[in-house]
Amino acid sequence: MSITDKLLSLYRIDQQIQGLTTRVNAARRYYEAQQRQLTELEARRSAAQTQARQLSATAANLETDVKGLDQRIEELRKRMNEAQSAKEYKAVLTELNTVKADRERLETEAIESLGKVDAMNAQISDIEAEMEQRRKVHDVAAQQLDTEKGEIASRLEELKSKRAQAAAAVPAEAMSEFEQLARRNEGEAMAEIIEEDRRRQEYCCGACNMTVPVEVVSVLLSRATIANCPSCRRILFMPEELREEFDRRFAGRS
Ligand SMILES: [Zn+2]
Repeated sequence: MSITDKLLSLYRIDQQIQGLTTRVNAARRYYEAQQRQLTELEARRSAAQTQARQLSATAANLETDVKGLDQRIEELRKRMNEAQSAKEYKAVLTELNTVKADRERLETEAIESLGKVDAMNAQISDIEAEMEQRRKVHDVAAQQLDTEKGEIASRLEELKSKRAQAAAAVPAEAMSEFEQLARRNEGEAMAEIIEEDRRRQEYCCGACNMTVPVEVVSVLLSRATIANCPSCRRILFMPEELREEFDRRFAGRS
């Protein structure tokens, strides 16, 4: 087995591990998004509840004030009945009219505040209905995440021990190059050679699509050492079908 072949085994295992973690990460991201939305709804409900409480308190204060003015109106009416002169009667009547106008204004304000309380309570109900829906989605997402985690746990263990075995077979220098490339390219340390034109012997890198000179392809064919893409530096490998094709071509020549 050439170093490239050994690296390729390692690479394939890494890709499987990455595929599994990607699945769990997607489930986790979805679950966390649901959690965030729930938290946001809770904050909105809490703000609406505070506002509803404040509006209720305002309405209650206004109603108390209206009752106070009712008492005052009662007193003034009594005084009007007991007025000793037309002048006194007129003075009390003027005051009565002012107090009545005040009462009217405060009562209107109280009714408006109560209307706002009703509107706020309706808004809270809407938020709570939305929360109930969101909570259902959230619970399903939590379940999905658990299932994904459970399903991949044993598979991941298996792959990790396979990876350790595969890594042990790779020479240290090649290993450190592989790890470095993997870090730089989100796990994609290797790339396959793609044959663009057989007759013209044109090849390119499967990752960056840049041209790979035929000399580099020869290095890969010889299996002597690892070959890097001249552009992206990824370690190149030859897909099985292409290698078989080369084998056939050379067999035909000899
Ligand atoms: Zn490349």
